[in-house]
Amino acid sequence: MIGDGRSITGLSLDQWTKAVVVRQIASQRRIKIPPLTSIAEDAPPVLAFVNYGHWKAFCPNPACGGAEDIWREGPWLLFCLRCGNRAVGGRWVLVTMPEPAERDAIEERLAPLHRHEQNWEATEGEDGA
Ligand SMILES: [Zn+2]
Repeated sequence: MIGDGRSITGLSLDQWTKAVVVRQIASQRRIKIPPLTSIAEDAPPVLAFVNYGHWKAFCPNPACGGAEDIWREGPWLLFCLRCGNRAVGGRWVLVTMPEPAERDAIEERLAPLHRHEQNWEATEGEDGA
C-alpha cells in the first residue's frame, strides 16, 4: 500500500498536531498549529499526489516549497510546518484527494513498482491509464 501520515507516524492527524516532536518543531519556528477546525475554506485546495510511495501535498504557498504527508483516510487537510501556512492566515488548507475508487486504482497500479517509481499526480491518469 502507498504510505501516508498514519503509516509513517502511527498517529491520527489530530494526534500528530499534539505530538511533542511536532510541537517542538513548530515552537522553534514560531509557528502555532491551529485546531483542525480552523480551515481556510476561502483558499483553493491543494492537490494530493504520490511521491516515492507516499501521499503528499505541497504547501499552499508555492514560494515555500514545503510538502507534508497526507492522511489517506482523512481529514484531508494540510498544515505546512515550514511556513505555518502563513499565506492562508495560518489556518489548515483543504486537500483534494482522489475519490476512494480512483485512489484504490492508483495505489493498485503503483503497488508493483519500485518505491522510486511510485509517483502520481492529478494531471495523470485522466485518460484512464
Ligand atoms: Zn509552507
